[in-house]
Amino acid sequence: MLQHSPFALTAAERDSGQILACRAVPKTDVTVAWLDDEFIEKPAIRQKAQVIARDKMTHDIMRLRLALEAPVKFRFAAGQYLNLTMADAPMRSYSMANRPDEAIVELHVRHVPDGKTSTAIHRDLAVGDRVEIEGPCGSAWLRDAHDGPIIALAGGSGLAPIRSIVETALHAGMKQPICLYFGVRREEDLYLVDHFEDLAKQFPNLTFIPVLSQSAATRHRTGFVTDALAFDHHSLADARAYVAGPPGMVDAAYAVLTERGVPAANIHADVFFTPEEEHPKIA
Ligand SMILES: Cc1cc2nc3c(=O)[nH]c(=O)nc-3n(C[C@H](O)[C@H](O)[C@H](O)COP(=O)(O)OP(=O)(O)OC[C@H]3O[C@@H](n4cnc5c(N)ncnc54)[C@H](O)[C@@H]3O)c2cc1C
Repeated sequence: MLQHSPFALTAAERDSGQILACRAVPKTDVTVAWLDDEFIEKPAIRQKAQVIARDKMTHDIMRLRLALEAPVKFRFAAGQYLNLTMADAPMRSYSMANRPDEAIVELHVRHVPDGKTSTAIHRDLAVGDRVEIEGPCGSAWLRDAHDGPIIALAGGSGLAPIRSIVETALHAGMKQPICLYFGVRREEDLYLVDHFEDLAKQFPNLTFIPVLSQSAATRHRTGFVTDALAFDHHSLADARAYVAGPPGMVDAAYAVLTERGVPAANIHADVFFTPEEEHPKIA
């Protein structure tokens, strides 16, 4: 440590093992990590992006791959989302499914029947088309300083941000148990199952649990995904939970998680809804 003012680092702070990184000179290779898990949020910026691939993942979920005009300016944390605008459709939010260190942005867009933008994306958006994106946004990002168990719960296309979170954690070498629950109605709604089953073989700390709410004849578990979660875990006091999907599932997950001891501050959730102002209530 070089000379420094006692005001900047008190004796008590020094005794607790803290240093002043700005006055410290490393003598050997060092490992650097955030002291706490606050992610320095980057301002959302607008830019153009080009569709470079579109793949049908299920009967109603489309995977879009976007090449951004200025990828270096789009520094997001796993779990965040962007706002997408395409011609003749209102702006909507979609979560990044890729890891932040991957340049190509991946989105999973479920077709909402009669939905304006999701219909336009499924019907009209073609490879080569340009869209406008604004982001990153959202606070349900991976807290990577946490070393307790991780519960990741996705409903339908909620798998997008959950995939980013889980794979970023694994890629960063996070070693705690990671339980990924994927709730859908029927077998035909499942996607990326082989991908996550392979990942669970590669990373023994990952457990992948698809749960089908409307199917009896299946090799997977059945019932509500939140009931499966409650059945499997009796105490989750030291866990953090990441939840993404439709409002009913997110509410149910919140109830189970708090009942099992997860502090509300450690539940990070994104509800996939269209903001109220887009659907004014009829008086
Ligand atoms: C933070 C955030 C992240 C999101 N990430 C994703 C994502 O990764 N993938 C994804 O597919 N969607 C995601 N969404 C939802 C997405 O932003 C749109 O709400 C969705 O695509 C529907 O838009 P639309 O214009 O097609 O439907 P609208 O024209 O807005 O809605 C048509 C009708 O469908 C209902 N509706 C709207 N949204 C839904 C829904 N999600 N499920 C069921 N009914 C609905 C509306 O109440 C309305 O009655 C996210 C939403 C938020 C807020």
